[in-house]
Amino acid sequence: MTNIDRLREKMAEEGVEALLLSEITNVGWATGFKGSSGWAIVLKEGGRFITDSRYTIAAQEEVKDLPSFTFASPTTGAQFLKRQFDELGIKAIGFESAFVTYATFEEWSKAFAPIELKPVKDLVGPIRMVKMPDEIAAIKRACKLTDACFDHVRRMIQPGVSEFDIALEIEFYFRRNGAELAFAPAVVSGERSARPHGKPSERKLQRGDFVTLDFGAKVDGYCADMTRTMVVEEATDRHREIYNQVLEAQLASIEAMKPGVAAKDVDGLARQVLGKKDLAQYFGHGLGHGLGRVVHDGGRMAVTSTDTLAPGQVWTVEPGVYIEGFGGVRIEDDVVVTESGVEVLTHSPKELLVLPG
Ligand code: ZN
Ligand code: ZN
Repeated sequence: MTNIDRLREKMAEEGVEALLLSEITNVGWATGFKGSSGWAIVLKEGGRFITDSRYTIAAQEEVKDLPSFTFASPTTGAQFLKRQFDELGIKAIGFESAFVTYATFEEWSKAFAPIELKPVKDLVGPIRMVKMPDEIAAIKRACKLTDACFDHVRRMIQPGVSEFDIALEIEFYFRRNGAELAFAPAVVSGERSARPHGKPSERKLQRGDFVTLDFGAKVDGYCADMTRTMVVEEATDRHREIYNQVLEAQLASIEAMKPGVAAKDVDGLARQVLGKKDLAQYFGHGLGHGLGRVVHDGGRMAVTSTDTLAPGQVWTVEPGVYIEGFGGVRIEDDVVVTESGVEVLTHSPKELLVLPG
């Protein structure tokens, strides 16, 4: 079943006859389009994909399940959409109320009249959480390249190398291999490793630093997201105690994940394991998030989460401990929920690496 057919099923359940997808990640998910501007009109049967003339050829190549129509200046997107609605005999169109700005709503209200604009909740988000086999295959390719990148850049870990240089090498590696970056890599060392999502700086690595790399490739439109923490040259007992407790929390969380389990309970388990060494107080963010076409793809494993694990969901599992003035550790892997548990998709080493070693 295609993603657009999955959406049609959901539309039927919710009584939505015609839907205008405008949130570009949702448009790409439903149609395969890789460009940055386009809309999908989705009907019970058929529909149309709309973009502008910059993407005419790309749309012909990428959009398989809907016919493509493109417009050029001086026609505006809103005018062109109205023409499609008229040709398709649409009297009322649902729009993604979670993503349309008030300014766009006003523009559409004028341009589409007398067609009725009906706000529709985000239908794609919940479906998008469960990945189809081809989507999981793409995420696996992204994870594989991310593992290879780690194997490449870990050789740079030594005193005197700057965080900037490591981040750049990660970027070069992905680009050279034909991939994009899922997000700008976080590279933090020494006391800076206490910043969970710190940007790389010109700071140079020093003996006794924790170094945390959080990075991921984007391959065929799908993201990987992995974090590893290492120590430069010499690890103290404190380094080992913190690191091993984060690792224990991560392994226990992965072990507990299976269909039907509440995401917040997995998060709670990680906190419980960290609490055994009085480290839960330093774990300020959620345990993980959904992963897919974007790096935060819907779904959260956190104290307040209402999500339940189901087969086909792809999650990150990333407990961390961040101690201001000392440093931090995070270990993050990507997993896909199977019928009986999870399959781990990232395979870089997780024992504490003391580098160069
Ligand atoms: Zn990450
Ligand atoms: Zn993450």
